[in-house]
Amino acid sequence: MKEFTMEKMKEACGVFGIINNDDYDVARFTYYGLYSLQHRGQESAGIAVKNGATILCHKDMGLAHEVFNKVILNQLQGTIAIGHVRYSTTGASEVQNAQPMVLRYRNGNMSLAHNGNLVNASKLRDELEAQGAIFQSTNDTEVIANLISRYRVLNDNIVDTLKNVMDDIRGSYAITMITPKRLVGMRDPLGIRPLCLGKIKNSYAFASESCALDAIGAEFIRDINPGEIVLIDHEGNIESHNTVEKGCRKLCIFEHVYFARPDSIIDGVCSHKARVEAGRILAREYPVKADLVAGTPDGGVDAALGFSRESGIPYGHALIKNRYVGRTFIQPEQTQRDSGVSIKFNPIRSEIEGKRVVLIDDSIVRGTTTRQIVQMLKEDGAKEVHMRISSPPYKYPCFFGIDTSTRKQLVASKNSIDDIRNLIGADSLGYLSLEGLLESVKGDKCGYCTACFDGDYPMEVPFETLKNSCG
Ligand code: AMP
Repeated sequence: MKEFTMEKMKEACGVFGIINNDDYDVARFTYYGLYSLQHRGQESAGIAVKNGATILCHKDMGLAHEVFNKVILNQLQGTIAIGHVRYSTTGASEVQNAQPMVLRYRNGNMSLAHNGNLVNASKLRDELEAQGAIFQSTNDTEVIANLISRYRVLNDNIVDTLKNVMDDIRGSYAITMITPKRLVGMRDPLGIRPLCLGKIKNSYAFASESCALDAIGAEFIRDINPGEIVLIDHEGNIESHNTVEKGCRKLCIFEHVYFARPDSIIDGVCSHKARVEAGRILAREYPVKADLVAGTPDGGVDAALGFSRESGIPYGHALIKNRYVGRTFIQPEQTQRDSGVSIKFNPIRSEIEGKRVVLIDDSIVRGTTTRQIVQMLKEDGAKEVHMRISSPPYKYPCFFGIDTSTRKQLVASKNSIDDIRNLIGADSLGYLSLEGLLESVKGDKCGYCTACFDGDYPMEVPFETLKNSCG
């Protein structure tokens, strides 16, 4: 029997890190942190713990609660821990690519967990291999690890080492790291991927999103700045090094559109608030006469709330999502409705029958899910289905951690909005403008990477891939 993976855009990973200056169980806290970052990656999970001079690590394919149990967590005793949940963007989906990575280098043991994607990883890998380096995995993180170990030999401290590495690597990265004495957090010079710092009593934690700090009862202190390296020791000393002049931040705007948990606050913006605001603006940009506003769970519900509040059209639930459908499941027979969408979503007939429904979703990527959902709503009696998307047409592939495959597969890259409306079978279709989206996050183009919507990449990207992907 064969298992199929749902054809989906892949998402970024989640990282966590904690240094214990009290009497906390760092592995357990990391587990809770990963649990709340699970939405950022469901393929593999891992925790590394510093125990004296040794680093203990457990990682495997699966969700955090599938990979860890009490016995395993009890074995992971130590004073500093980092953790990772992964959804592969670079490198195959296999356990060798699971993180954190643990390596032995001249100064002892080190471990790192990385969220993001390097655009020059294959060039760096080639150069390192030409110098005799051996790689065990196919992910970018091992390239970073290799560079750290090489530059550490040339420098007498970790900060200069990391600065040298940052000069070499290009792309997006939010990294947590265990060094022989400290917990380290660092963010790429444009701050494309999020990373924040929290405090619980005398202990400190880094997390991709503030929701993970909430989960362990830590107080949010601040976001790590773009290009910043933060090192924390067991005395509670925090050392910060900024490697870039204050310039444009380029947080991935898709974090607020889709990735981040709505209760997370990233770079001062609450994702839930931004999504509600996006819905309000969308209602002004694309008004429609209707009886019900609903969101596709979970991505569309916050914006649907905003659309309803702005338009005065009642808010309700049109669809129920089965929360227990994981990423991988046995594909139903072809006689059943296409690719399992009917297993994941089911309309509530009594809510939609005879009604003009405005359905809000955060994005249309390939268009396949949206088409099937519109069809389901109509089959279950909706009189009209007006699709509203709380972000602009997704036209360009991402090189910074969101694997949107090839441009060819992005429905908006080659179709007009009217063609897409036709393809998905909706009565009308409206996308939020880029200006509207930026207004919803209280930002401007200097503040966010909007490349997936306008092709304006914040750095040179591998054009060959882009050319190929334009197909
Ligand atoms: P489709 O119509 O097949 O393009 O699917 C659109 C749906 O995919 C929307 O409900 C989005 O919330 C969802 N979506 C957007 N980005 C991602 C992602 N990175 N991983 C999984 N689903 C996503």
